[in-house]
Amino acid sequence: MKCNIEYIGKSRQGITKYYCTAHKSFAYDKLGNKLDECLWINKEIYDNGLNIKQNEIKNINIRYENILENVIPKIIINDNEFNGILEYDNSILTYKDFGGIMLAKLNNVPLEIVKCSHCARYHSDNGRFAYTSHRIHLCLYCGHLFRAKEKNIGSELAMIYNIPEIKLKDKLLKIDDACCVEYDMLKGTLLINNQNVNKVLLKNKELDIVEFLNNILENEF
Ligand SMILES: [Zn+2]
Ligand SMILES: [Zn+2]
Ligand SMILES: [Zn+2]
Repeated sequence: MKCNIEYIGKSRQGITKYYCTAHKSFAYDKLGNKLDECLWINKEIYDNGLNIKQNEIKNINIRYENILENVIPKIIINDNEFNGILEYDNSILTYKDFGGIMLAKLNNVPLEIVKCSHCARYHSDNGRFAYTSHRIHLCLYCGHLFRAKEKNIGSELAMIYNIPEIKLKDKLLKIDDACCVEYDMLKGTLLINNQNVNKVLLKNKELDIVEFLNNILENEF
């Protein structure tokens, strides 16, 4: 899928902003110059869409093979690895949205239906926005900021699935160089190196799992 880059206005500093509505990503440099291609890295995933309303979804898992080195998870649907985007109605979801739902559920925050006032599409919050409620949202479909009535956190996945809370066991796990994180969204299980724990010991530091993942994934929005 090719970029579809549109002018979306100026920043407060007067820099012209461009947005790619094909890949839900910005497309301008520091000086406000329009880029030929947007900043989204793995554009090929947009060529492979799966409609989650028209296909039977029995399970959705995401797996960060080693989250200390790579924050892009694999998506596993109905036990098969899926390298693409998920669609339904007007929603297009990527691995970032799955990371967002994992963070929101870990932090036990309420998820609401949030709609962009510019393009009327629904909104999902990822990275640190998935656990920090906010009033001004950045719509990833049109690139505009919009204001909600109250501070909140949006999720399109929570609009169509009943996503359980994540229950962690009170247990400490020592991590060396590899930290595999597996999240089963519809069951609500989270495993760190195959174990259900709520704390890790990393470089002799004890970390709460929620804080640990919040920090690692804060910029994945
Ligand atoms: Zn693009
Ligand atoms: Zn919008
Ligand atoms: Zn938001």
